[in-house]
Amino acid sequence: MYEIKWYFPQSIDEALGLIKLESVIPHAGGTGILKSRLLEKIKGLVDLGKLPINYFCEENGEIKIGAMQTYNDVIENLQQIDPDSILIKALSQAASTPLRNRITVGGSVSYFPIWSDIMGPLIALDAKVTLLGENAGMYDIRYFAKNRLLRRNSLVKEVKFEKDRWRSYYFRAARTSFDYAAFTISILAKKDKNLVKDIRIVVTGCARKFSRLEDLEEELKGKETQDLNFDDIFKDINLEFRGKRHGSPEYLNHLFQVELARGLSKIFGD
Ligand SMILES: Cc1cc2nc3c(=O)[nH]c(=O)nc-3n(C[C@H](O)[C@H](O)[C@H](O)COP(=O)(O)OP(=O)(O)OC[C@H]3O[C@@H](n4cnc5c(N)ncnc54)[C@H](O)[C@@H]3O)c2cc1C
Repeated sequence: MYEIKWYFPQSIDEALGLIKLESVIPHAGGTGILKSRLLEKIKGLVDLGKLPINYFCEENGEIKIGAMQTYNDVIENLQQIDPDSILIKALSQAASTPLRNRITVGGSVSYFPIWSDIMGPLIALDAKVTLLGENAGMYDIRYFAKNRLLRRNSLVKEVKFEKDRWRSYYFRAARTSFDYAAFTISILAKKDKNLVKDIRIVVTGCARKFSRLEDLEEELKGKETQDLNFDDIFKDINLEFRGKRHGSPEYLNHLFQVELARGLSKIFGD
């Protein structure tokens, strides 16, 4: 048994200095660190609780969420300004109330577990991730998710996205309400009378971890919603899933097709 040293920095600069130390990592909600194998290799944890990265604001048409906001903070804050937000639909189904009071946005974006309930909606919202430290800068969330090395000696400061009026739909494939999701589907859409004006569709939990269905989005844009036959559309869309305890890859692909068709018909049904 070895001891883990805790650090409680009072400033961002102090925290950035500490995470450069060997095997010393940021600690936000701690729920991912506890569950992962990370603990075996860690020598120190840097508590982020005193840093000025726990905020939520709307500025110049953008919603900015500080890294230390918990899932429940985000739900409560969004309910004030955007009660139809897909993030409310998604995060209120994640884990349990005590966990939602701990799980943070920064920890979840950095860790991005395959069962994540936040990454699909953030990718659909075209969110940007702001990093501080070695890789300081603002990154498209898809680029950030694919380039894991960006996290090296860096802290997630905030995620932000445009505040816009979307119709939204969120589905998580889980066997019970407390189960980890096998995959999730996030759909954002805009209608102009009966035309599909804009649409974004994101799946997480597939073999590539996440997939934005851009070909399907293009196919749907400009179509009359009453002419869409969702049962036909979904048959050509296949995603690769890794067999896991939720079912075989074939079963998960079929479930994905059925739920995608349901999601699309719900989002365009009035
Ligand atoms: C039983 C259980 C069920 C769960 N179910 C769900 C679920 O259904 N849906 C869901 O979305 N999530 C769920 N989660 C949460 C998810 O699995 C992760 O644990 C969580 O997203 C991590 O967030 P955290 O704030 O606890 O991060 P931490 O555990 O503190 O950190 C996770 C990783 O991110 C790094 N990190 C933390 N903050 C930052 C930062 N600001 N900048 C850079 N790096 C940082 C840490 O160093 C660590 O490597 C569940 C967790 C548990 C324990």
